[in-house]
Amino acid sequence: MNIRGRKPIIAGNWKLNKLAAEVAPFAAELRSALPAERGCDVVICAPFPLIPAVRESGAALNLGVGAQDVSEHEKGAYTGEVSAAQLFEFGVRYCIVGHSERRSYHGETDFMVNEKAKALLANAITPIICVGESLEQRLRGLTRELVEYQIAAAFSGIPAEAAAACVVAYEPLWAIGTGNTATTGQAQEVCADIRSALARIYDAETAARIRVLYGGSMNAGNACDLLAQPDIDGGLIGGASLKPADFAKIIAATAPAQRDAHE
Ligand code: PEP
Repeated sequence: MNIRGRKPIIAGNWKLNKLAAEVAPFAAELRSALPAERGCDVVICAPFPLIPAVRESGAALNLGVGAQDVSEHEKGAYTGEVSAAQLFEFGVRYCIVGHSERRSYHGETDFMVNEKAKALLANAITPIICVGESLEQRLRGLTRELVEYQIAAAFSGIPAEAAAACVVAYEPLWAIGTGNTATTGQAQEVCADIRSALARIYDAETAARIRVLYGGSMNAGNACDLLAQPDIDGGLIGGASLKPADFAKIIAATAPAQRDAHE
């Protein structure tokens, strides 16, 4: 737990990378690089066919099993879709929704993000709800309005108790996969705005329970500073989650943030 009573979470987003055969060697390398004790939840959001391998190889490491997308539909004539119940059956307990790559390349709307989050919550899977602005939106001074709208849409109709179980990831589009990490000030400012927006939708107590992550070129070098920010409760990590040594360093970086928070 950090001083605010929220357990940090470090979630890897493997995107369209790795084969099932690569999962066990990854887990073995991660195991030898991990600190003996860790005070955060660690999750791997893998492509669907890799989920059984992540579940099997990650068990000894207590890795949470995550997916990268889910259907908003429960069942029926939706070729190619995978439902929340099907994910749960395979051991998935976390799922990314609204990642900017799904919004940009697959037309995922704010309303779909909301429906997907509800489908996950109905099946005891924690949604990791991604929000964030483009560079142009930031340059035009629209970041706060946009992100607050994305939050309002994503949480629409979700009661407070269920909302408290959700995770939000602030991912500025200009920082994803670019190496242009947001400064700690930029990341903290928007994560605090997100928490304020949640407090207005629900109440301060509910907002204080929701874990807000930063994502966008987080790496072994910048994780410590980002994770020490008061409203940043962990990270959603793309590129660096593919390399066990780097991922382990980011996981280890949650420890000083907690220690400092208690000093
Ligand atoms: C992501 O895709 O969610 C992400 C944060 O990627 P990267 O860490 O590579 O910027």
